[in-house]
Amino acid sequence: MGLLPHSSPPHVYASEYYKKDFIKFNERFGVREFEFKSLVPQLYLPPFMRTKLGYKTHAFVSLPVLNPKTPVNVGFDSFKLMDKHNDMAAMLNEMTFSEDYPSFYLLNVGETHYPYALPDEPEDLWPRISGVHGVFKHLDDHIVGGKLVEEEGEKFFDQDKLDQLYERQITAVKYLDKVFEKLFDLVPPNTYITVTSDHGELFGEEGYFGHGPIMHEKVFEVPFVEGKLR
Ligand SMILES: [Zn+2]
Repeated sequence: MGLLPHSSPPHVYASEYYKKDFIKFNERFGVREFEFKSLVPQLYLPPFMRTKLGYKTHAFVSLPVLNPKTPVNVGFDSFKLMDKHNDMAAMLNEMTFSEDYPSFYLLNVGETHYPYALPDEPEDLWPRISGVHGVFKHLDDHIVGGKLVEEEGEKFFDQDKLDQLYERQITAVKYLDKVFEKLFDLVPPNTYITVTSDHGELFGEEGYFGHGPIMHEKVFEVPFVEGKLR
């Protein structure tokens, strides 16, 4: 979207806030070029970094809905859909860096995505939820979600099952912490990397599971952690 996650301060004019937000980008990149008018007309980071800041821009994505044919996935020198939807470590193996130019990487990570599986877990051990897996298989992994409803006297989802899934997601986050350590060991200083999932997830809040078509604060809630190599 051109903006990183940010606060929503009251009693502040938008223009004042955005000015500060762009200053933060200049600090992050160690440049002075970030200002609204230099991002016009695309208002989008990858093409700006590529053409104005001289970065080589790369994307490794885990989920096929992110692909270069979609409007937001533009401005990359290389764009790759990984073989597995849940293997961030495999991305690290393929990252290359040059001393001649800075590098930008977008890493879309899927371990925390439904079915919250680590890369070494066999597919036949992935959780099966009545009703959900069919959707997952036949439509798209992004259309996973729904209201918890009673169907023909049988509970569509029960909270115990959702709690187990929630624990699986936490296990996936803990696993990714270790991959992040490897990432920090790997990258040279002239590198900017965004590691992201694609949305938040519901585990029974207000009767919802998943993400899919649900307009709920949790679906838009994605943690933002920033680190800088010194
Ligand atoms: Zn998704």
